[in-house]
Amino acid sequence: MILSSPLISLPLGMPSNIAEPEIFPLAVETSLMHELKTKKFDALILGAGAAGLMCAIETGKRGRRVAVLERSERAGKKILISGGGRCNFTNLDCRPDNFLSANPHFAKSALARYPPADFIALIEKHRIPYHEKTLGQLFCDRSAEDVTRMLETECEAAGVQLFLKCKIREVARTTEFVVHTEAVQFRAPALVVATGGLSIPKIGATALGYDLARQFQLKIQKTKPGLVPLVLGAADRTQYCDLAGVSAEVIACADHQSFRENMLITHRGLSGPAILQISSYWNQGDPIRIDLAPDRDATAAIDEAKVRNIAAARTAFQAFLPQRLATRWLDAHAPAAWTNQALATLERQAHEWSLTPAGTEGYDKAEVTAGGVDTDELSSKTMESRKVPGLFFIGEVVDVTGQLGGYNFQWAWSSGASAGRAL
Ligand SMILES: Cc1cc2nc3c(=O)[nH]c(=O)nc-3n(C[C@H](O)[C@H](O)[C@H](O)COP(=O)(O)OP(=O)(O)OC[C@H]3O[C@@H](n4cnc5c(N)ncnc54)[C@H](O)[C@@H]3O)c2cc1C
Repeated sequence: MILSSPLISLPLGMPSNIAEPEIFPLAVETSLMHELKTKKFDALILGAGAAGLMCAIETGKRGRRVAVLERSERAGKKILISGGGRCNFTNLDCRPDNFLSANPHFAKSALARYPPADFIALIEKHRIPYHEKTLGQLFCDRSAEDVTRMLETECEAAGVQLFLKCKIREVARTTEFVVHTEAVQFRAPALVVATGGLSIPKIGATALGYDLARQFQLKIQKTKPGLVPLVLGAADRTQYCDLAGVSAEVIACADHQSFRENMLITHRGLSGPAILQISSYWNQGDPIRIDLAPDRDATAAIDEAKVRNIAAARTAFQAFLPQRLATRWLDAHAPAAWTNQALATLERQAHEWSLTPAGTEGYDKAEVTAGGVDTDELSSKTMESRKVPGLFFIGEVVDVTGQLGGYNFQWAWSSGASAGRAL
């Protein structure tokens, strides 16, 4: 058990326009900030994203004095850009196997404690109109702003103090947790790290959560970009990427996982839901396999054609692929002679097109960060560290990563609520 930790200086690369913390809502007068050097709370939450806000609401509702410290100028920025601006806030069909983690059982307890139905009830309480788009995915009818406004309203009702533009300098543990910001020292017996992952640094992602895990000697599962477009190698890029914008329904497979959804060709490689899904399971150097003709006999029409030739093959493939993709793919795969054996090989290749991506588009384009704080270090019921009492990790910083479809927000709500109810 770690009883105390040295102060650390965190290399957070803060933008120069960030000065003193702003308080929202105005639970404390701004002018007091200059006089009060130390502020004491029952719990401090680092990060006003999905998980941090949910945790704050549950903590505040239980009468605890809770402060949320956020580096950005507003709360829930990632919620605002999510789901194309409409926020896919949960999924009706949310099961533990919709999540990747070194421990596939870890998410079960939190998901059972705060299931999708609980979040949907909150959305309905605030009369936010929503719809199911596809595959159980629930989106706001109007805008993601409905969700951030709802969370802010709930925070206000629960007496949560939200400190924006908060530059966290150091975090230490003595008899309690001490968070040093530029202007104020925050103290509390409990600290919740909800600073998210590394994806989309330009809207505020930092490595603070991982730095704190290391500071308190918690293990971290290697992080990598997830739900991210894949970049093709030079030869495949030359062959296919001028078709950017072309899409097709495929089954994409990697590491024993497969997803039947759309694939989109981009200027540098592949994207679309099928590819984003598979990217989280893909490891550098491995091939991915793409079934271009799900549930179809791709070459039957060639077999039955009066003349078996490239023209017959193009007609056959254009029945299930966009014309340009069918032509381009056949340029690379059409056999020299149209024998039965060659047709059988072509059939197999159409269902198992194997490509080895050169990499991913990285954290700049990734929807999530896979990996993170090792779940072995945390209680699955409360998200509290097993080694450091009073220290909690929630949301994306933890090694639990949802598939595409509202699962990542559900994890943020479930892990946040589980921690909040334990504070
Ligand atoms: C473009 C995009 C679209 C997405 N769409 C969806 C979707 O529709 N459905 C879905 O389920 N998931 C979606 N996701 C994923 C989802 O947004 C995240 O999984 C979720 O927001 C994670 O919640 P979190 O609270 O753990 O982290 P975040 O929401 O990232 O919140 C972390 C907070 O911590 C703050 N912070 C970071 N560093 C510091 C620091 N040093 N000091 C103080 N504060 C700090 C950040 O500014 C941020 O406010 C999307 C992601 C992206 C990038």
